[in-house]
Amino acid sequence: MELINNLTEELIGYCRKIAVDIVGFSDATKFDNFSKKHRPNSFLSNSKTVIVIGFHLYDISLDAWNRDENKGTSYHFADLILLNQCHRIKNFLTKKGFKLKIITYEPGLFLKDAAALAGIGPIGKNNLLITKTYGSQVRLRSLVTNAELSYGTPIHESEYCRNCNLCVESCPAGALEGGKYNKDLCHNYCLANLKYISEKTVIWCNKCIESCPVGKKTN
Ligand code: SF4
Ligand code: SF4
Repeated sequence: MELINNLTEELIGYCRKIAVDIVGFSDATKFDNFSKKHRPNSFLSNSKTVIVIGFHLYDISLDAWNRDENKGTSYHFADLILLNQCHRIKNFLTKKGFKLKIITYEPGLFLKDAAALAGIGPIGKNNLLITKTYGSQVRLRSLVTNAELSYGTPIHESEYCRNCNLCVESCPAGALEGGKYNKDLCHNYCLANLKYISEKTVIWCNKCIESCPVGKKTN
């Protein structure tokens, strides 16, 4: 156990050094509720831990998508930062003799659920992860590894949402009504209302992120 704790502390220290805003660890065996292709072992056999990292979208422009139709390229800038951090974490643990796999977005793990299983925060009525410090203004990415680390305590319910309904009321598409996220309503609205910040760069509707009071400074 001491070895596990030491390795975990070392990795947390390294994450701090490379400016990872959020990091948590979930037990790879806790993903049995998901279909096989979304379980850690589908990406790395004998995986023990899912490492979830998050980037604080401290300015909404960081959540921009850039797409060049002529080149056929598409970038999300925060994703590129997260991917770079994942590679550094991978190198860090590989040098210690462990195996790791950086998880792609599609197909991938369910990132919000992985973060909730790691005890980073609950999934709120806005259908997003809520973190204590940054609310839902985070972008996530994950790795799986055969290294055993100290797991967080899974969070299954959002205490923040008990007396709040702000995101549901602020959604212009009604996509959060009835306690269930309606992906089609959300996507149709977002695509019809992309905010162009330049010819090739857009921001999606983020009202359910912006309306959430968690993590917002009050003065
Ligand atoms: S992104 Fe916009 S449309 Fe989609 S759920 Fe959030 S507030 Fe509603
Ligand atoms: S706005 Fe309120 S109800 Fe919605 S996710 Fe945040 S705390 Fe929960």
